[in-house]
Amino acid sequence: MMREGELRKLWERTVRRLELEGILRDERVKEALLKWPRYLFVEERYRRYAHLDEPLPIPGGQTISAPHMVVIMLQLADLKPGMNVLEIGTGSGWNAALMAELVKGEVYTIERLPELVEFARRNLERAGVRGVHVILGDGSKGFPPRAPYDRIVVTAGAPEVPRPLIEQLKPGGKLIIPVGSYHLWQDLLEVIKLEDGSIKTRNHGGVAFVPLIGEYGWRE
Ligand code: SAM
Repeated sequence: MMREGELRKLWERTVRRLELEGILRDERVKEALLKWPRYLFVEERYRRYAHLDEPLPIPGGQTISAPHMVVIMLQLADLKPGMNVLEIGTGSGWNAALMAELVKGEVYTIERLPELVEFARRNLERAGVRGVHVILGDGSKGFPPRAPYDRIVVTAGAPEVPRPLIEQLKPGGKLIIPVGSYHLWQDLLEVIKLEDGSIKTRNHGGVAFVPLIGEYGWRE
């Protein structure tokens, strides 16, 4: 078993490397990464690998995303204090913790697998993260009770942009979502809802996510 101090040092090295590689550019995202290191959100047996810049297994046959991917999505999301935000695909709870740090408040996050809802809640509580509400459900339908959102971040790959997510964005809001094939190849889309309600989409290139399974995602 590795001690906390060693894990911390390895994690700080990863954060520095992401900066040197030019991937991590936002100082606030860097502070969030240092506040909530990835090793707090994986099972004990994977802690020693948490600094590696690649996805790792979490329960339910799912993954915690690679650090560079999380950084890219958070920087695109451009989260500011006070924003009303939704994450779809809670997984380990790590990305939700980072989002809560960046908005300095509440984050709603939806997960379809009950065992991951439990896993994320446990991780968040043990780490001492506040403000993250983990909800069991099909996030492809969004989460109407808290809509409209300034930002929606989807951490699973969809066949197309789910219509309810566009509807639940504020004018001026944006959605970050991987869209493409079921088998681990998608384009990372930044979907912006303009003030007049029209949609502008930017493509940020190829990514690999587990599928978004649900009514407006892939069928089981
Ligand atoms: N954001 C996570 C983290 O920080 O650990 C990583 C998420 S993992 C790549 C994708 C997650 O999306 C999985 O936990 C999966 O069960 C979940 N998922 C897939 N379809 C979903 C849906 N329709 N609604 C909610 N969660 C879904």
